[in-house]
Amino acid sequence: MSIRDNLATIKKYLPPHVTLVAVSKTMPTDSILEAYDAGQRDFGENKIQEMTEKWESLPKDIKWHMIGHVQRNKVKYMASFVSLVHGVDSLKLLKEINKQAKKHARTIPCLLQVHIAEEESKFGFDETELMDLVTSGELNALQNIEITGLMGMATFTEDLQQIKKEFHSLKQLFERARIIIPGIKNLSMGMSGDYQIAIAEGSTMVRLGSSIFGARN
Ligand SMILES: *Cc1c(COP(=O)(O)O)cnc(C)c1O
Repeated sequence: MSIRDNLATIKKYLPPHVTLVAVSKTMPTDSILEAYDAGQRDFGENKIQEMTEKWESLPKDIKWHMIGHVQRNKVKYMASFVSLVHGVDSLKLLKEINKQAKKHARTIPCLLQVHIAEEESKFGFDETELMDLVTSGELNALQNIEITGLMGMATFTEDLQQIKKEFHSLKQLFERARIIIPGIKNLSMGMSGDYQIAIAEGSTMVRLGSSIFGARN
């Protein structure tokens, strides 16, 4: 199956309110262009340097999503062009994104990453930390960022009930956060292995890599 065919198959079953982010990390620019020629415009990368290099050489109407863990000292490299930062997991990081966005006289949309998985290794706020942050008023001072939603990753497991439960809890948290920040609209959850469950649980944005581009090395 070609990249074009994979995209067509996925899109056929994607509800219109769900944005498809094609995760192109480790993929060459040729593969990205193949997806681009098939109409795909949203691409996700997990390393700032790699994303920046690809941004430099590829068409400028691509929307670049930073889906990986963000190091504060690298925010400056993507601040001029990044379309959405999915993995924001601290107020310190938000402040840095705000500072760099201001230098470029723009607002950078951000998602707050929530830790929903059982694994220790996944980054993100827990429920209490998240609600504390959104109710603290700290975000009001940050004029150059906009919190547009939440992002989460389920446990890497075969247990579909477990995955469903985790996505469900993120959706509930999303609804709670939405009461406090009325502008939030994006719920980024779902990868190649679990995106159907994520959509059924209320995802508005899925991040798919291997199901579009094939397995990564
Ligand atoms: C790599 C990655 C994906 C895509 O994973 P696939 O299983 O290839 O679809 C999605 N989200 C994040 C945060 C990733 O790092």
